[in-house]
Amino acid sequence: MQFVRLRLQGFKSFVDATEAPIAPGLTGVVGPNGCGKSNLLEAVRWVMGESSAKAMRGAGMDDVIFAGSASRPARAFAEVALTLDNSARRAPPGFNDSDTLEVVRRIAREAGSVYRVNGREARARDVRMLFADAATGAHSPALVRQGRISELVNAKPVNRRAILEEAAGVSGLHQRRHEAELK
Ligand code: ATP
Ligand code: MG
Repeated sequence: MQFVRLRLQGFKSFVDATEAPIAPGLTGVVGPNGCGKSNLLEAVRWVMGESSAKAMRGAGMDDVIFAGSASRPARAFAEVALTLDNSARRAPPGFNDSDTLEVVRRIAREAGSVYRVNGREARARDVRMLFADAATGAHSPALVRQGRISELVNAKPVNRRAILEEAAGVSGLHQRRHEAELK
């Protein structure tokens, strides 16, 4: 599933509503130090269901909310929306009734995250499954965060296998098996 558009509001340094098209072939983001390149990539991972605040370079998940600056007050919430092209109808059952999917994650201070898919409230696990089936996700090797290349070079074989499984698109199956075993 092709990503089409990313919309952010109150997420980290993106205090004002910001919209970025994601054109086919987009492979990187360039800009001066501190302009928000890593924040942009973190927004993509976050909306796909990242649950680790550390992976967002924060102490708690509320740290993704714009914390204020000399001239701007802090925000009460952060929201990221990712639009996907679903014209090939590859989304899992329940999400497959339209040509585009808009996945939204919103967090309010001390209130946790809420997810919506095309306006309907969704569970975090459903959102993660949606992206896992599309062979992507918060931990997808397609998103190369800062420092990742040197980590990959030094990875243990078992960790490299996880990366290959993501690439092969079987992560969703593993997640379902894991949940079945817990039941
Ligand atoms: P580099 O080229 O150094 O890797 P970058 O473009 O990746 O830089 P980011 O790390 O994305 O930059 O952005 C860093 C900026 O985001 C810092 O100025 C930091 O203060 C700001 N920032 C991060 N979290 C928040 C927050 N919750 N509220 C306000 N600003 C934030
Ligand atoms: Mg960076």
